[in-house]
Amino acid sequence: MSAQCRALQAQGIDVINMAVGEPEMDTPEPIRRAAQAAIENHMSHYGPVQGQPSLREAVAAHQNGREGNAITYSAEDVIVTVGAKHAICNAIETIVCPGDEVIIPTPSWVSYTEMVRLAQGQPVCVPTRSEDAYCLTPEQLSAAITPRTKMLLLCSPNNPTGSIYSPSQLDGLMAVLRQYPQIVVLADEIYSALAYGQPAVTLAAYPEMAERLIIVNGVSKAYAMTGYRIGWLLAKDRTFVAACARLQSQQITCASVPAQAAAEAALTLPADPSIVDTFAGRRQLIVRLAKDIPGFRLTEPQGAFYIFPDVSAIGDADRLTEYLLHEAHVAVVSGTAFGCPACIRLSYACSTEQIVEAMRRIKEAITKLNSK
Ligand code: PMP
Repeated sequence: MSAQCRALQAQGIDVINMAVGEPEMDTPEPIRRAAQAAIENHMSHYGPVQGQPSLREAVAAHQNGREGNAITYSAEDVIVTVGAKHAICNAIETIVCPGDEVIIPTPSWVSYTEMVRLAQGQPVCVPTRSEDAYCLTPEQLSAAITPRTKMLLLCSPNNPTGSIYSPSQLDGLMAVLRQYPQIVVLADEIYSALAYGQPAVTLAAYPEMAERLIIVNGVSKAYAMTGYRIGWLLAKDRTFVAACARLQSQQITCASVPAQAAAEAALTLPADPSIVDTFAGRRQLIVRLAKDIPGFRLTEPQGAFYIFPDVSAIGDADRLTEYLLHEAHVAVVSGTAFGCPACIRLSYACSTEQIVEAMRRIKEAITKLNSK
């Protein structure tokens, strides 16, 4: 969709891109300065495989300070990776053996199933329901578990739905997992800072999970640093951390050292609430405007920067996505990509003016469609 969008833009057509998964704002200045200083200070050599010790300290402190965290992490529990994507991929590569099943609640981010397949594992997609705010229920989890289940992949706040698991929802899932000590939980918490209203409680709220929990996070989304490519994983299982580090050592040696300095600045400099505040304001705006679009059935998102309306009352999501691109000149993503063909995903990681104009165009195009 982004490629199609760029092709139209190259023809001079004013397309508003709501298909993107990254903040459009610039990286905050103190972080940019830290990257420049690292380069000036000749941080141009290979670093340790697991990441710079000072960044790993900062990552552990950041995780230990998160809402609900009840496991104490230290620098040795951290592996710094090339973005959160790489952390997820490496965790899967390290743990999943051919034929192992990985439970993935859908709608889900597109890469999970493919990463599991790359490891020759079997993705087991479990569709969640809009009436459950797109959260996996304990009953659904129980029903999906088989003797081959190796891992549960949970993403909260979620891409594409924006849903956040509440403490009581997590309690319910943990009650099931307690019966299956062999199942590893991979918690993708890359959107943890982008939570509006209720905080996004970390899965590290359950100390009994410590030895089979992998937390993934990074600086891409919360600090507008997608291009720096710095993420990480945290895990208490020494054997896992050592194996994952061995894999990483053969793959990349280490993540970019100047980029790690920038990530460390992001975590240690005084928090700048402006990115989160900006998204919170845009979320309110887009939710209000989306409620006014005929045929959009919206489950209100709690986090990340997406809305995921059910458009089945209008028609096929793939066709609607094409129609909106060519008729309204707004690029959105069909839910098919996320395993949910009833919905479309709109990213509000664009300016307020673009949100207002895009929603006006979408409303106009859908009204036209309905009157045909
Ligand atoms: N997890 C989810 C749910 C995402 O949406 C993304 C980015 N689109 C990532 C992980 C990857 O993040 P990064 O850019 O840090 O690799």
